Amino acid sequence: MGEVLEKSRFLELNRILKKAGKTDAKIIILDPKETFSKQGVFQADWEKRYAGMIEWLGPKVHDGIKSVDPKTNTVVTGFETYKDCAFVNVIPAQMAGEIARSAGLAPAGGYCAIDAATMKSTVDANVFVLGDACIAGDMPKSAFSANSQAKVAAMAIRGELTGARTFPARYVNTCWSLVDTDDTIKVGGRYEPKDGKITATETFVSQPGESDALRKENQAENMGWYAAITADMFG
Ligand SMILES: Cc1cc2nc3c(=O)[nH]c(=O)nc-3n(C[C@H](O)[C@H](O)[C@H](O)COP(=O)(O)OP(=O)(O)OC[C@H]3O[C@@H](n4cnc5c(N)ncnc54)[C@H](O)[C@@H]3O)c2cc1C
Repeated sequence: MGEVLEKSRFLELNRILKKAGKTDAKIIILDPKETFSKQGVFQADWEKRYAGMIEWLGPKVHDGIKSVDPKTNTVVTGFETYKDCAFVNVIPAQMAGEIARSAGLAPAGGYCAIDAATMKSTVDANVFVLGDACIAGDMPKSAFSANSQAKVAAMAIRGELTGARTFPARYVNTCWSLVDTDDTIKVGGRYEPKDGKITATETFVSQPGESDALRKENQAENMGWYAAITADMFG
């Protein structure tokens, strides 16, 4: 998800560059993935607002990052050498935290497998793994997802400890990306355990060309979620 959400941060950076009159600046994204969430609507938005300022290259085009020299801000890919970059932001390969890996809950460089009905580790049933560290099937890595998974884990724990009634696990997620003032796109869905993994039962994603009113409504929803989740967590 970091992956997805970084795209919103690029937009923010571009907004600042454009505001500062630096329209000849260019942001080049060397993505290790072939596709990314909300790709269609993000790319349409880049073209609309920042034509020519953002270039996204997938791995088939850039052929991998071969080296980065922080002294000269040079990035060498299989396709091109970028010299004298004003700013280079390298996001290393993501994986579950050291504590999870050293506990044997995740393979080297990977994430923790879980039981989709309870969020229990499939390696050790006494450990619950949720959020970015787990393999959550169709759910993206997000704070919204982590919170939804935490509720399933809490229900399972309470059920085991007190014998309280438990319900079939149901998960939900929405990720909003603010592309401009009062202009927000979103992706999300509902999920449940199926065939041994958390599976999407319903999904939605913003489309290019939506009305200003709808995008503004998305932003109000985004703020509403933030207020609700912080109240939910911290009271
Ligand atoms: C730039 C960016 C923007 C994002 N925006 C959004 C957004 O708008 N909406 C959204 O829903 N999600 C967003 N996300 C994703 C969201 O931040 C993560 O999915 C979420 O934080 C995952 O929660 P987590 O508890 O699983 O992991 P984390 O938030 O990473 O928490 C893990 C914690 O464990 C601690 N820790 C690690 N090892 C140990 C140890 N041995 N002992 C004690 N503590 C330890 C770490 O320090 C860390 O605080 C964004 C992510 C990024 C990078």
